[in-house]
Amino acid sequence: MTDTEKTDILSLTLPELREKIISFGFPAYRAKQIFDWMYKGKTFRDMTNLPAGLRTFLEENTSLSLPVIDKKLVSAVDGTVKYLLRLSDGNYIESVLMKYKYGFTICVSSQCGCRMGCRFCASTIGGKVRDLTPSEILGQIITVSADCNNRISHVVMMGIGEPLDNYDNVISFLKLVNLPDGLNIGYRNISLSTCGIVPNILRLASEKLPITLSVSLHASDDQTRSAIMPVNNKYPIPELLTACNSYQTETGRRISFEYTLIFGKNDSRADAERLAAVLKKYMKKTVHVNLIPLNPVSEREFKGSSRTSAEAFCRILVNNGVNATVRRTLGPDINASCGQLRRSVK
Ligand code: SAH
Repeated sequence: MTDTEKTDILSLTLPELREKIISFGFPAYRAKQIFDWMYKGKTFRDMTNLPAGLRTFLEENTSLSLPVIDKKLVSAVDGTVKYLLRLSDGNYIESVLMKYKYGFTICVSSQCGCRMGCRFCASTIGGKVRDLTPSEILGQIITVSADCNNRISHVVMMGIGEPLDNYDNVISFLKLVNLPDGLNIGYRNISLSTCGIVPNILRLASEKLPITLSVSLHASDDQTRSAIMPVNNKYPIPELLTACNSYQTETGRRISFEYTLIFGKNDSRADAERLAAVLKKYMKKTVHVNLIPLNPVSEREFKGSSRTSAEAFCRILVNNGVNATVRRTLGPDINASCGQLRRSVK
């Protein structure tokens, strides 16, 4: 049996797994045992309370797509851990574990590579290799949680890939991660970040999942945004912000905007003033802007703005009535933003 013909058991809910196990001719109660092991990050070989015959059957007829840790970088500054993970087909992705006062947050990848082409981003160099399956996204949390021996309470979909370019799998993942028998992570503790695929922002609004939407804006006018984010040619700022406004009205959830400050490109006083004006024009409710000085990528020519100019940019937004903060950079010594570790194994 090839891997694609095997049942991907990590994508099943407990009742679904129970049905599967019964259909395989094994007693129903085995499902819960298998389920608990999977969520502890164990492989079939480790499932020691199962009879050998069942373990062999599972190996031959099902797949358990937990990514394997290939490399781990731990920040000496704040303990942030960046993981290079290997998928069952030999492709690599990254996850980042961050510790906050309220608990552990993981940043997960949604695709292997990315086809969005943002000019400052390492993940898109080399394009998209493939989408991740729902269980491969979930598996990152299980593997990292087993490794750090802690419960992970918050998830951000800000790793490699564009989640709204892998829509169906991401929605299935969101439903899996929320299962009470499984990881039981509340939708309110999940953020999804997108470069702005408008039709899928509207589709996401109709799913009525109370997750937080983050939108990578990075510019306040179409010319600047299109020059750094090709997706803007298809979905320019007025269309994007109109969709963001409907998302907020329909879901009642706050939107946050990501704005990466690139030295000399989008970080002037005029940029800040225009950003405040455009947000006030389109967004009827409160929004929040996260300002992040660009993390330089060796293959790219862009430089990050200084902390001082990031703070000045922030003050202009606040003085113009827009909530904004300069994001604290976690794991500065391990280059914790995604995409660069994966590039190093290519
Ligand atoms: N595709 C999604 C999520 C992945 S990237 C998106 O575009 O939102 C997560 C965030 O990191 C995005 O806001 C992205 O624009 C930003 N980012 C990418 N490369 C960066 C870099 N070199 N420095 C700072 N932020 C970066």
